[in-house]
Amino acid sequence: MANILVFLETDENGIIKASEEIVSYCVSNFKNSQVNAAVILSTGLTQTVKGQLCNSGLDNIYLFINDDAYSTELYAQILSGFLQENMHDVFLISATPLGRDVAPRIASKMNIGLTADCTEIGLDEQNKLLATRPTYGGKLMATILSKTVPQFATIRPGALKQTPLQNEKTVNFVEIHPEIDHSKILCEVISFQRKNKESSDWTSADIIISGGRGLGSKENFELIYKLCDLIGAKPAASRCAVELGWADSAIQVGQTGSSVSPKLYIAFGISGAMQHLVGIENADRVISVNTDKNAPITASSDISVIADAVTVLKSLINEIEPETENARKN
Ligand SMILES: Cc1cc2nc3c(=O)[nH]c(=O)nc-3n(C[C@H](O)[C@H](O)[C@H](O)COP(=O)(O)OP(=O)(O)OC[C@H]3O[C@@H](n4cnc5c(N)ncnc54)[C@H](O)[C@@H]3O)c2cc1C
Repeated sequence: MANILVFLETDENGIIKASEEIVSYCVSNFKNSQVNAAVILSTGLTQTVKGQLCNSGLDNIYLFINDDAYSTELYAQILSGFLQENMHDVFLISATPLGRDVAPRIASKMNIGLTADCTEIGLDEQNKLLATRPTYGGKLMATILSKTVPQFATIRPGALKQTPLQNEKTVNFVEIHPEIDHSKILCEVISFQRKNKESSDWTSADIIISGGRGLGSKENFELIYKLCDLIGAKPAASRCAVELGWADSAIQVGQTGSSVSPKLYIAFGISGAMQHLVGIENADRVISVNTDKNAPITASSDISVIADAVTVLKSLINEIEPETENARKN
């Protein structure tokens, strides 16, 4: 039996989707293991988080009540301190910006290895963590077995398929008011600013509309943003569209971009190279629009529209825009 600890990240609405993905995956797949969670949260979020996690199937949830703003050193101090006293076999954090920031600090404080940005996880016969991630610029997938304990990995958001948290098992909540050694916190965070609206948590959107080289120009790629605005979807891009300068690299989908798991993924002018498809394998439904009926994405689509992407985008916008305008006026 492995003893697994998952760090759960929160935003103003409670536990974020990327953390729920790890919990639901571990609870559903590692049935012979004990799966615990740790969350650092403000007093005001405590009841919300308890409500979100009461059917999670987790064994123990450690709620560290702390009203200070996030800082790397603060979170690293709380989590490494907890792990040193409550050793687990495996420790998992989502590879969000916060996770990518705090995980190396924890690894360094505890002198343990860290397998970063994994796209798959499993346990071997001895309950050791098998952490798989792209390597050599995405050309190979490497499965890494860490020699240090806890075996520590960050998991790419969207990489693990989320199932609803509806487990009947009684969860044991443990509230902890951590004692912070402020003398060890050498940096003060003055403020947080989002880089731009594209870099917000778009990977957890229900509908993602993505564009590729087949759109033909940056001007045409703008139609993706327009359609997204009209229907409340999030924009994304293939690597070619990013390399052509039509879209920010923050919204690239695929092996060297982000993995996504929307209810609907619509791909305009994207061929569906293996490195792109790996990022959408957890999408519930895929619609592709491509002039080539033999493009690889067609075989991976629930609906494939064989047509010019720009024509379809413009038709959709012309159809939807007046209705959206009317709805806004009313
Ligand atoms: C190590 C490595 C990592 C990579 N990582 C990623 C990654 O993370 N994400 C990623 O996306 N790629 C990645 N790639 C690149 C990947 O292999 C492809 O080159 C890339 O995905 C292709 O982008 P695309 O589909 O936009 O362009 P193309 O492959 O050029 O496809 C364009 C498509 O548009 C269609 N088309 C043309 N005109 C029209 C039109 N008027 N209307 C409709 N359709 C039209 C064409 O039929 C074609 O299918 C990686 C490659 C390597 C080697």
